[in-house]
Amino acid sequence: MLIKRLATDRPDELLLARRKWLAQCLKAGAGTVVLTLAGPQIAAGAGIVAVRVWPAEDYTRVTIESDQRLAAVHTMVRNPDRLVVDIDGLDLSPTLRELVAKITPNDPYIQSVRVGQNRPRVVRLVFDLKEDISPQVFTLGPIGQYQNRLVFDLYPVNPPDPLWKLVRETEDKQRRFASTPATEGADSVAGAPSSSEEDAIAALVRQFEDQAKTPATPPLPANPPVAATKPKPPAGTAPTPPQAPLAQDKAGKSDPSDDPAPSRFKMRRLLTVAIDPGHGGEDPGAIGAAGSREKDVVLQIAKRLRAKIDAQPNMRAMMTRDADFFVPLNVRVQKARRVKADLFVSIHADAFVKPEARGASVFALSERGASSSAARWLANKENAADLIGGANLNKDAQVARVLLDLSTTAQINDSLRVGKAVLAEIGGMHQLHKPHVEQAGFAVLKAPDIPSILIETAFISNPEEERKLNDEAHQEQLANAILRGIRGYFARNPPLARSPSV
Ligand SMILES: [Zn+2]
Repeated sequence: MLIKRLATDRPDELLLARRKWLAQCLKAGAGTVVLTLAGPQIAAGAGIVAVRVWPAEDYTRVTIESDQRLAAVHTMVRNPDRLVVDIDGLDLSPTLRELVAKITPNDPYIQSVRVGQNRPRVVRLVFDLKEDISPQVFTLGPIGQYQNRLVFDLYPVNPPDPLWKLVRETEDKQRRFASTPATEGADSVAGAPSSSEEDAIAALVRQFEDQAKTPATPPLPANPPVAATKPKPPAGTAPTPPQAPLAQDKAGKSDPSDDPAPSRFKMRRLLTVAIDPGHGGEDPGAIGAAGSREKDVVLQIAKRLRAKIDAQPNMRAMMTRDADFFVPLNVRVQKARRVKADLFVSIHADAFVKPEARGASVFALSERGASSSAARWLANKENAADLIGGANLNKDAQVARVLLDLSTTAQINDSLRVGKAVLAEIGGMHQLHKPHVEQAGFAVLKAPDIPSILIETAFISNPEEERKLNDEAHQEQLANAILRGIRGYFARNPPLARSPSV
């Protein structure tokens, strides 16, 4: 998931970095053009319970839920692009036909679907595609409210890169912030010293675009100081705007006399906050007595928080999901690491066995054991999201295992600090469930290099809190409190420059 230091300023390198990321994303999915899911118990006259479609930019999922396990064979057909699926042991039913109407025009990948009885007891689905896709097809056994599920995940061949997207969306803001000298005193806004590849990429995007925009003007200095090479201002060209050093001289031998960038313009980068709305897609999270779903209210709160973070001069937000679709826990962590987030904030609103349970809680990771049995119970429940939401275990298990062993004491200590700051702010406006930051083994908090907290904003199982969670003014107050906590934490603990190898 990491990119190497870019040693040159050529736009080709930018594309190369992006391709590498895409190749890594696709590794698990490549080569599975045809996959047979036949198992020992092939359905004989299975009944379809429901069909569901979850379109999203990351991927579109189609789920067929049935009372027996289904066996399917799929293949990609070109010109035009189609995914053809034959499901064995099945007769066409009205529920299955509903799939046709469930494909929406805004689906990024599916144009339409055709459903037909191909031969006796074999139903054929033909997905007409908007672009080439890389399909993942797998089955899930019964769990929670679900019976057997046959899942088609339609991934784009070139998946969206969260870093690329973030850099493109925030490059103007980053440029403004970087060229504003830091002020001393209470009104200073924290940033972080810049030495990451992320900023090197931003510089490349900038240079590439500037050149494209102004072909008639003299070229910019050929080498922005991305790596150890010092730029040589070309003689006879117009003075260039002050440019910040994007990375320190590796050997530390910088000589101020020939450094064209005055130190007062030392580059600061925006603080990046990864916001992680819990659950999504097939995983509704907890459900309140009045029917509110955790996945919906936390997405609303997360979007409010994103707007507030993006309105700060020194911060930018990246959301692990901004729509209603399933994101495996380890992918949430990967996305945050990909954008080199300075902070990871997961937002939830869970249920408890007792409806009278109330108040907000904040959690950090625990290396061993949990701080209370309730914290352990909740972590187990949250970690089951992949089972309910439907992770493709063949694809995701390996990454999840690697993450398990990377937690660090430093990360946990930082997470406790953030947690304390956020808890204090939420406590100022809202009842707390516990007055201190709790700890347990939450899988989503395991980025070894990012302080990570999980906020249980309220208990959706408590009718009064369920009502508040749906209330716009309350959502605003919560988002404001979380933002104040984050700002307070950054003011006291400005992130250090990141080592390029992290
Ligand atoms: Zn949750």
